[in-house]
Formats: sequence, structure tokens, C-alpha cells
Amino acid sequence: PLIQTTDINKLVEDMVRLVEREAVKRKIKIDRDYQPDLPVVQTDAPQLRQVVLNLLINANAAIDAGGCITVATRVVDNGYVELSVSDTGCGIPEENRDKIFDPFFTTKPPGKGTGLGLSICHGIITKLDGRITVASEVGKGTTFAVRLPVGRRKG
Ligand code: ADP
Ligand code: MG
Repeated sequence: PLIQTTDINKLVEDMVRLVEREAVKRKIKIDRDYQPDLPVVQTDAPQLRQVVLNLLINANAAIDAGGCITVATRVVDNGYVELSVSDTGCGIPEENRDKIFDPFFTTKPPGKGTGLGLSICHGIITKLDGRITVASEVGKGTTFAVRLPVGRRKG
């Protein structure tokens, strides 16, 4: 991977701006909760952009008109930052939660989803020594959280 010094707040905001126009059209509100003075991260920014964009597109797709997407960043403990994308969408049934990161798993109609987005996200974040996790409640919404080490990667 191409490791560079990355401002996570800016990276997330850049991706939010790519989807905001489309979200606003569907009366979806986007809330920002960026931690100020977040430490910079040594990571592969282009790949991380792809991850965040995927999560935002999934969030948008999960919401009926009128919902909300919240993007947040924070320091979780010494050495890690977390970015999260939450939505007030349909939620993920418990029986699907261990399948969503598998390649080709999709609940979208044929032609609408490849089922590759989260599998690619998982692969990218694992390579970057991070973690991607999901919390979800059917009918309430879903949060995907990505945790990345702040310091230099090993190897
Ligand atoms: P695709 O979007 O092509 O279906 P993904 O790998 O991005 O493939 O997602 C796999 C599946 O995980 C989706 O089809 C959907 O069932 C579920 N999913 C992903 N993100 C969300 C979300 N924010 N809310 C509800 N379900 C989700
Ligand atoms: Mg997707």
C-alpha cells in the first residue's frame, strides 16, 4: 500500500461531499461529528477513501427518504483513531451479520448490488492493520466503525 500522512477528518469530509448532493435529494440529512485535533494517521489514503465511500453509499441505500447519516471520528484509546458511518436505515438482520463481509453476499435485487463492497472494505482495512466492525438493529439502523493505528505500520 501507498502509506502517507493522512488527515482522517478531511478524508471523510471529502467523501461526504461526494454523496451529499444525492442524499439531500432524497431528504436524507448528513450529520458530522468530527473530533477536532484528531491525530494524523499513516495509511493508504486512496484505499481508505474507497472504504468510506462504500460505507456512505451503503448507508444511503439502506435509508428511505427522510432518514439521517452520521459520520464521526474520534480517538479510541492511545494509538487508534476510529471513523464511523451510522444510518437510520433498515438495519441488518442478525442472521446476515456474519455474511455481509463475504464476497458476493448481497440482499439487493439482481443488477443492483455486486455484494463486493464490504468484502473489499474488509480486505483493505485488514491490510492496513485496522479493524472494521458493525453494529445494527433491524428497523433502527446500522453503524460501521473503522479503527486504524495512528503510528507507523509494521513491515
Ligand atoms: P452490495 O451493496 O453490492 O449489496 P456490500 O458488500 O456493500 O454489497 O453489502 C452487502 C450487504 O450488506 C448488502 O446487500 C446489505 O444487505 C448489507 N448492508 C451493507 N451495508 C448496510 C447498511 N448500512 N444497512 C443495511 N444493510 C447493509
Ligand atoms: Mg455496497
